This record gives sequence, structure tokens and C-alpha cells, in this order.
Amino acid sequence: MSTEEPNAAASGAAEIDAGRSGSAARTDAAPPHLDWEGFGFDTRQVHAGEYADRNSGLRVPPIALSAGYVFDDFEDGVARFGGRSDWRGAASTSRGEVDAFTESEPAPVYSRQGNPTNNVAEQRLASLEGGTVSVAVSSGQAAISAALFALAGQGDHIVSTASIYGGTRILFGRSFKRFGIAFDYVWDAADDAEWERAIRPETKAIYTETIPNPRNDITDLRRIAAVAARYNLPLVVDNTVGTPALIRPVEHGANIVVHSTTKFLTGHGAAVGGAVVDGGNFDWAAAERAGRSYPLITAAPRPGLASMLDRFGDGAYARAVREAVVNDIGPTLSPFHGFLLHQGMETLSLRMRQHVDSSLEIAAWLEQQPEVESVDYAGLPSSPLHELAARDYAGRTGSVFGVTVRGGVDGARAFFDGLRVFSRMTGIGDTRSMVLHPLTSTHSTFPDELNARLGITPGLLRLSVGLETPEDLIADLRGGLAAVARR
Ligand SMILES: *Cc1c(COP(=O)(O)O)cnc(C)c1O
Repeated sequence: MSTEEPNAAASGAAEIDAGRSGSAARTDAAPPHLDWEGFGFDTRQVHAGEYADRNSGLRVPPIALSAGYVFDDFEDGVARFGGRSDWRGAASTSRGEVDAFTESEPAPVYSRQGNPTNNVAEQRLASLEGGTVSVAVSSGQAAISAALFALAGQGDHIVSTASIYGGTRILFGRSFKRFGIAFDYVWDAADDAEWERAIRPETKAIYTETIPNPRNDITDLRRIAAVAARYNLPLVVDNTVGTPALIRPVEHGANIVVHSTTKFLTGHGAAVGGAVVDGGNFDWAAAERAGRSYPLITAAPRPGLASMLDRFGDGAYARAVREAVVNDIGPTLSPFHGFLLHQGMETLSLRMRQHVDSSLEIAAWLEQQPEVESVDYAGLPSSPLHELAARDYAGRTGSVFGVTVRGGVDGARAFFDGLRVFSRMTGIGDTRSMVLHPLTSTHSTFPDELNARLGITPGLLRLSVGLETPEDLIADLRGGLAAVARR
């Protein structure tokens, strides 16, 4: 087989359509509209990624529970394994008609590497983030791992901003370290000298988050993107807490976006999942010329075979994530969870609106209470980050933030146990409000000095504001603070 042949998916579709016999009756019908480019965010969160179901006209993309896929014939199998057969949704095959699909994702060979239900979620998320292609995986941790394993290997190095999700810091310091990938942290992203000291010849990526929790200490993405560009490094951004409804990192210069879809995207706290989005805007060839090599993307997998970059252009990175990392290691998203994810995303902007409206109200109220020492919410006018919040977020910095009560751990305990509507649990970003004490949970394994430097103090609590009636949430918090006062 000629493996040099370009992917015929997009270009060949129309010819095949015209040439098929047996589909004549259908070609008279209006073609399905599957390209939602240029439409508004709310339209795309409902429609992007959907496909025309030719069997029974299902309006809601169904849960495709099948581990594998039937090949039409010998050649179809060859094409699928060669990544040269395009994805046509549920009902059409290479012998049937071909919809004018926008993506050039390959027809799957096995559900570890691709599934129609998950593909709806993938296309929807890529559209909302303004990327080219996305890959859904089994958890946020899997997304971060897959995103970075596609860039770095043994002996390589990654630079991350210091304020990141606790689980990610543990992942970097334990598993990545065991695999020979080293990390350095930058504490002041505005300090060029600090970046200069941290970045090495073997550095392969810069990693950051849009809205770190618990302290809502939002990141100046444009500034970090400028550093990344200066060093020919891809900027990987975890946008779990921001969500594309509030901020789209690619628009600020990021190259890769990762998500724990467990949180706001799926939205109901019912399904663990994750995703990697290729911004399609990193110049891998230029990086290679500058001495930063990304062999999974730019090198021939074997002699005679073209590189991912040559074959897939601005979706090459995502293809490498899917085929060279996820397919090898196997953190596959269940199609059932993929269904919950694409359903959840349909209401993302509405939910985020309410999450943030309530958070702004609650944060402002908390700040006025005598039992409260401080509130870490960049959307508050009193925050040192307010100007950045106004510039990049229109002042709407999500619904996960910190509140520090008087009395240290004892004050935190009284507050925590005095709540009813807020669930005492680890987790963020679903319909329910949640509370957590970071020092004794997510950050309990870190040395005292690190926690002190990260601002994880004994009286700090993390709130994730849900979709309950805001007055009920404030009444609940009032009860918690009354318990602090009574102590
Ligand atoms: C929860 C979370 C993760 C990890 O995601 P899981 O789906 O729990 O594996 C990563 N990053 C951030 C910012 C998170 O909030």
C-alpha cells in the first residue's frame, strides 16, 4: 500500500458522493449541515459534532457501545489502519454515501482509538475551544498525561507555573519523575529572568492553568504565550476551571488545551473524563529547526512513512496524541461517558453564567463578614488580579475560589461542619456546591514550606459554587460562619 498517499477524507468526499450508485434517492434530499464554523458559541455548543443518522434519524447522537467496527472489505481495513479512511458517522460506510464532514479524523478500527459518540464530544469541544481536533480520554489526569507524553520523553523537561491543581503537581513529581521527565516551576510568570533560568535545551513544553484552584489566581496567558513563542515551546493550558465559555486559551496564544471534563463540561458530577485539544497553531517544523524536537509529530514513524505533520498538518499533534499515546497506553473514554459529555456541553454557557453570577454575589458577601479573613476571587474589585480579570475574563473568573476564615484549622473545621447545602467533598464544577479544606486534603502530602508558599493556609477553604438558589447558598454560608463565631 502506498503510505505516502495523503488523507483523502476531505477532498475526496464530494467525488465519492457523486459517484455512488444506490444512494441516488438520497442525494436529491437537502444535504445535512454539519459544519458549524462561523456560528455563535451557544449554537455550536448545541450542534457542533452532531452527525446525520441515516438509519432512523436519531436527533440525539446515540451511545455507540461497540468495542470494534466492521470493515466493508479488505481495502477498507487497509485504509482504516492506514488512517486514510474518513469518519462518516453512524450510518454511512465507504460503500454508502459520504456526508460533507468537516473533520479529517480517521474512521476507527477499534474503540480504544476512536468512537462515534466520543467523536461528537471531541468535535464539539474543539469547536468551542477554537482548536482543530480534540481527543477525549478517561480522566483529566489522563488528558494531562497524554498531552505531555506526546511532547516529552525520558531525559526531557517541562516548565510549569507553580500554582496548579494539586493532583497535577503530584502527577509531575511522582509518575513523570519516574518516567524520566523533569519539572521546574516558575513562581512569578511576569519575571522573564525566572523563565530564562528554568528553560533548558531539553525543555519540551510550558504548562499552566487558566484559573488555578483553590486561590483563583488567574494566569496572564498572553504573557506566558509570549515566553513560549520566544523559546519555540508549545504552551499547554489546563482550562478545566475556566471552560471555553469564559476563556479560550488558544485566542490568547496557547497551543494545546487540556480538560478534566469531569467538572464543568460534563457538568453534573456524574462522569470522570478528560480531553486534549490541538490548537492547530504551533509551528512544529520551526521548533525542530530551532533545536526542539518532537519526534512523534515530525519524524517518520518508520522509513517510507510520512510524519504526522506531513500527513495531518494542523491536526498532527492531536493525531499523535490519539495514535501514539492514547492508543498505546489505553486511557479510553467510555462511550457512555462520552454521551454524558456531549450532552453536558449543550448547556455549558448557561450553566457558567449562573455559576459566575452566584459566585460574584457570594464572594462579595463573604468579604464583608467579620469571621472572614480574606476571599481569593479575582473577579472582586478588591483583588490584586482584578485588572487582569477584567481584561481577559470580563471580571467573570469562574466559580471555584478560596475563603479564609478566622481561627485557623479550628475555624475551618467549624465552618466546614456548619454547612448543609455545600457538600463536604473533593470535586468542583458540578451543579452542587462543594467545600473542601485543601491543607488536610488535596495538599496534605506537600511539605509545609511548599504549602506556605502556595498560600495554602490552615484557615483556607475551597468553595465550588453550584447552581442552587444563591440566597440558600448565602444562608448556608452564614450558618457556617456562625459556627466559626461560636467556637
Ligand atoms: C479535577 C482536575 C484535574 C484532574 O481531573 P480528573 O478528571 O479528576 O482526573 C486536572 N486539572 C484540574 C484543574 C482539575 O480541576
